[in-house]
Amino acid sequence: MSPTAKIKKTVIFLTFGLLFLSASISCAADLTARPDIKGKDDGSIKFIYLTFDDGPLQGSYEISDAIEQEKIRINVFIVGSHVRHSTAMKEYFKLYENNSYIELGNHSFSHAHDSYALFYSKPELVYLDFLYNAEILKLKNKIARLPGRNMWRLKNKSIDDVKSGAKAADLLFSNGYTVFGWDLEWRHDPRTGAPVQTVDDMIYLIESLLTPKKTVTENHLVILCHDEMFRKSWEESRLRELI
Ligand SMILES: [Zn+2]
Repeated sequence: MSPTAKIKKTVIFLTFGLLFLSASISCAADLTARPDIKGKDDGSIKFIYLTFDDGPLQGSYEISDAIEQEKIRINVFIVGSHVRHSTAMKEYFKLYENNSYIELGNHSFSHAHDSYALFYSKPELVYLDFLYNAEILKLKNKIARLPGRNMWRLKNKSIDDVKSGAKAADLLFSNGYTVFGWDLEWRHDPRTGAPVQTVDDMIYLIESLLTPKKTVTENHLVILCHDEMFRKSWEESRLRELI
């Protein structure tokens, strides 16, 4: 049996937003919190969260368009300095704000200027960078993802990929933020932005992570993508194919 066929044996929901994951942690996927999900969670229900980092960038329009047409919910983690970069990026951010399928999250204002070791050596300044981002973007929730770090701060879990950044994650958490990392990354070519794994590769990886319960939260899989991956219509179609 092909991976695609096997995965269809389970019921999969894509994607209910990280706030839902955050709420479900403490009560083992309290499905009553989602009246649109029928039946009991007997372990056959898997939840997949599509998350997009670093927007707005070229690709944001295509993502917003695909999501609206497919009618699925996603999370985007926004970088304020990218919003400020140009009129076009401000327009892309507005598209995200006005798209009811999109939940906005905080990915810092500066994105560490891509100098992560220096950025994380001053946790208080990291926190201020997130606060500034929340203020200028008028973010309504406290969902965060650290730039360049796969770190988690949930009610009952604290996970670090490296040491540098842990204090900043703690500081965000102690100030009410939920910090999300990811279980699986859909990687891209940094020069062209083109996705590296094929859709079949991704389906195989999704199944291999969900079946043996290898995710941070059992039966919940968080996928990381980047806005710049879907600049062309054929790339957008790969996103649709995965969905
Ligand atoms: Zn990033």
